[in-house]
Amino acid sequence: MRAHLKRRFEPAAGTGAFIFEPEQPLAFKAGQTCDIRIPEPRYQDAEGAVRTFSIASPPGSPELMFATRLTGSAFKRSLMEMPPGTVVEIDGPYGSFTLHQNAAKAAVLLAGGIGITPFRSMIADAVERNLPHDLTLVYSNRTAGSSAFISDLEAWARAHPRFHLVATITEPAPGEAWSHLTGLVDAAFLARHVRADFGTAIFYVAGPDGFVKAMAASVSSAGADPDNVRTEEFAGY
Ligand SMILES: Cc1cc2nc3c(=O)[nH]c(=O)nc-3n(C[C@H](O)[C@H](O)[C@H](O)COP(=O)(O)OP(=O)(O)OC[C@H]3O[C@@H](n4cnc5c(N)ncnc54)[C@H](O)[C@@H]3O)c2cc1C
Repeated sequence: MRAHLKRRFEPAAGTGAFIFEPEQPLAFKAGQTCDIRIPEPRYQDAEGAVRTFSIASPPGSPELMFATRLTGSAFKRSLMEMPPGTVVEIDGPYGSFTLHQNAAKAAVLLAGGIGITPFRSMIADAVERNLPHDLTLVYSNRTAGSSAFISDLEAWARAHPRFHLVATITEPAPGEAWSHLTGLVDAAFLARHVRADFGTAIFYVAGPDGFVKAMAASVSSAGADPDNVRTEEFAGY
């Protein structure tokens, strides 16, 4: 399907968010992905002009938001420099990294950096539709400045009593404003800050490969049933 760029903004340092208007509404579930192809990219490299991105906007929105770390690849530079109105091709939706049905089981969402994208869609959707699920987001970034969408997440935590935000940074800079936690996410951190029944909760982990592997191990040693751990690895980081 064709879609045109409406606008872009930087939700955090080194991060770009892109709003596309598709030529017709895309039916998808929060957590799913799309492949974005730039037909005439300004820059080219060996990695080509197609990338998989999780949809960061909720299904109820007519626009599609995607967000990414600006790595300097030809694809990312082309995205950052394409003028509004530029047409791209969007294939999808794909994937089964979506919220479970049974609301009796809590959902614990673990995001590493840009891994926040599928969860931004899931949480916005849960708030919009007032879903009965108990949702806890554990969100880890290096710095406050690189913590994308933190103000959206804070607003949803205020608005929706079943959504709990546990945000942490691992490299706090002196004097940088940050009202959340600091420190690495590990089994002890999870036991301290996540109020869910680890034996029955469903865990969702998204982000760069290294983060996903470390978190899958941490939630298991914190008491999660490995069958209840779902992962989405963002290859390429
Ligand atoms: C299901 C899924 C969802 C994703 N969602 C997002 C998202 O919401 N936001 C986001 O920023 N990124 C997301 N990604 C990752 C995205 O597709 C890109 O790989 C990533 O953004 C890096 O792109 P780049 O242009 O910066 O780097 P590239 O120039 O593409 O690659 C950087 C390096 O990674 C290597 N590499 C690239 N792809 C792979 C691969 N598949 N396996 C092994 N090595 C690889 C390249 O060889 C290169 O050395 C997702 C990936 C998957 C699979």
